[in-house]
Amino acid sequence: MELKANIPSGPIAQKWSKHRFDMKLVNPANKRKYSVIVVGSGLAGGAAAASLGELGYKVNCFCYQDSPRRAHSIAAQGGINAAKNYQNDGDSVWRLFYDTVKGGDYRSREANVYRLAELSVNIIDQCVAQGVPFAREYGGTLANRSFGGALVSRTFYARGQTGQQLLLGAYQALMRQVGTGQVKMFPRHDMLELVLIDGRARGIVARDMVTGKLETHLADAVVLATGGYGNVFYLATYAKGCNATAIWRAYRKGAAFANPCYTQIHPTCIPVHGEYQSKLTLMSESLRNDGRIWVPKKAGDTRPAHQIPEEERDYYLERKYPTYGNLAPRDISSRAAKQVCDEGRGVGPTGFGVYLDFAESIQRLGAAKIEEKYGNLFEMYERITAEDPYKVPMRIYPASHYTMGGLWVDYNLMSTIPGLLVGGEANFSDHGANRLGASALMQGLADGYFILPYTVGNYLASNKFEKVDETHPEARAAVASVEQRLKTLLSMKGERTVTSFHRELGKIMWEHCGMGRNRAGLEAALQKIPALREEFWRNLNVPGTADDLNQSLEMAGRVADFLELGELMCLDALERDESCGGHFREEYQTADGEALRDDEHFCHVAAWEYAGEGRRPIRNVEPLEFKDVPLQTRSYK
Ligand SMILES: Cc1cc2nc3c(=O)[nH]c(=O)nc-3n(C[C@H](O)[C@H](O)[C@H](O)COP(=O)(O)OP(=O)(O)OC[C@H]3O[C@@H](n4cnc5c(N)ncnc54)[C@H](O)[C@@H]3O)c2cc1C
Repeated sequence: MELKANIPSGPIAQKWSKHRFDMKLVNPANKRKYSVIVVGSGLAGGAAAASLGELGYKVNCFCYQDSPRRAHSIAAQGGINAAKNYQNDGDSVWRLFYDTVKGGDYRSREANVYRLAELSVNIIDQCVAQGVPFAREYGGTLANRSFGGALVSRTFYARGQTGQQLLLGAYQALMRQVGTGQVKMFPRHDMLELVLIDGRARGIVARDMVTGKLETHLADAVVLATGGYGNVFYLATYAKGCNATAIWRAYRKGAAFANPCYTQIHPTCIPVHGEYQSKLTLMSESLRNDGRIWVPKKAGDTRPAHQIPEEERDYYLERKYPTYGNLAPRDISSRAAKQVCDEGRGVGPTGFGVYLDFAESIQRLGAAKIEEKYGNLFEMYERITAEDPYKVPMRIYPASHYTMGGLWVDYNLMSTIPGLLVGGEANFSDHGANRLGASALMQGLADGYFILPYTVGNYLASNKFEKVDETHPEARAAVASVEQRLKTLLSMKGERTVTSFHRELGKIMWEHCGMGRNRAGLEAALQKIPALREEFWRNLNVPGTADDLNQSLEMAGRVADFLELGELMCLDALERDESCGGHFREEYQTADGEALRDDEHFCHVAAWEYAGEGRRPIRNVEPLEFKDVPLQTRSYK
């Protein structure tokens, strides 16, 4: 497989503008002759569908929720980065570019990251124009706060509901197009297969989740914006429905899957509290602007927080990383939390927790100010834990939160299947081996509002499309394969529920491919996962039928795909014999426990190619070059 990144030539700051000029345009009068499928109506998909509709293309947009408003993007709390430098604190496009490359531990593509930083400023203008109610200063200017891995305040926010407000902006733009008839929305539709005709992506097979009917939808190009796959860990901060099926089906049809092992374990989530818990809750990183993280200095100290005197507390992030302190990046903060808990210094009933303490900020700023900034997050914490964070410190622990891996895309966001473009968290993105906080929303909206509208047009203008319909043999074959799979899932009538398999897979992944990974553990996981998958296809019990609303059936298909993807993640983690960002191989660490990269052998993207059922996938490599931000050891000290 050839991985052509198609990075434009020229100086980095001019690549995107030059490329926009070089790309082909579709005559405005011809745009309505082209059709585009967008799967996903979160921030990336919603923005792409609205923008493509606005340009005049015929768009069919799909989501599995009952409304685009319920995409997982709604959950985003803390904010969105942009290099506006409103604070006059030294920010610039170049600094955001630099911070993101460094934050990703030098495992992202420089040209893409620069473009992301460049477009960040347009995103804020677009969203303000839509009426997104960003927080403002007293004088009316937009407010900012800081997120991890940055020494400037560049994060725009709407209290702790930034994702929701941005999504409402994208949604209204989308619904405007639905109103004009330019976009047709298909809610409650689950994409279960990709249709390739003559090697190009030409459509999807989707199941109407209410009637169970399988439908074929065809178009000239397909955009996937189906979000991340972190629910492979079962317990995660993701919405329960988030899944990998769309990208996994595309992978099986020839789209390379890049860096599957790059997953983000977020440091500040409410700790697991029981065996039967099904979901974890994020406490936004924005809280680390004012909250201080600590554990007792002494192992096994079970005194309540207020009885532990100041001199017996270890503010370990401030101690280890004095420059960034509590705003050290997520991978580093998560590992540090794991380390102190492994030393027996964790707090709470399980010992897997650290304190996030607001006492000092409340004393300095007053409870009202803290409430103004984080009120809804504090309320959410209290509802879940029955503890009042204004009075006692929050308890937090790392959890699966984001996936930097995803379908490989070139500079145009085109996958290795022509006509299949991928945006948002679903692609392998611009975040390298670790994503900095508040940059997923930035990337999803950059892809959706400002990149895909150009690159989809370029693809359409550069190709000819024969008319195809659902009687085409490839379309029929895709439907038949989905029918067969659903039938098999329903016919086993075994003894285990889908959830029990998912939970077991999650435990394997968390133990062996989570915050710390090592050769022996990954090899063990690579034995356990195929065995679990074998049992799944023998002993699963899915009640009901395919002709109706059937959530067990939906979940079964998703877990079946996670059982394959989990294996690929472990394989990728095993083959990457280095530590970088969130991929921490315990064998490769510095004397003080930091990630030890091997630039000589691993300064590349690993893009896996499906080789057929039961066959080992092929590992392809896209070398990474760092010309504008030279490779160096990442330090936040
Ligand atoms: C709790 C939480 C808080 C976060 N806070 C922040 C933050 O403050 N700042 C930040 O930058 N990032 C944050 N993130 C990350 C960020 O929210 C996500 O990365 C981002 O919203 C993903 O957007 P997306 O459009 O790519 O995907 P999603 O919003 O997940 O949308 C996916 C879409 O695809 C559809 N879909 C998926 N599969 C199928 C299928 N098979 N068939 C049909 N439709 C399908 C879904 O219906 C949905 O419409 C947070 C994440 C979490 C979990």
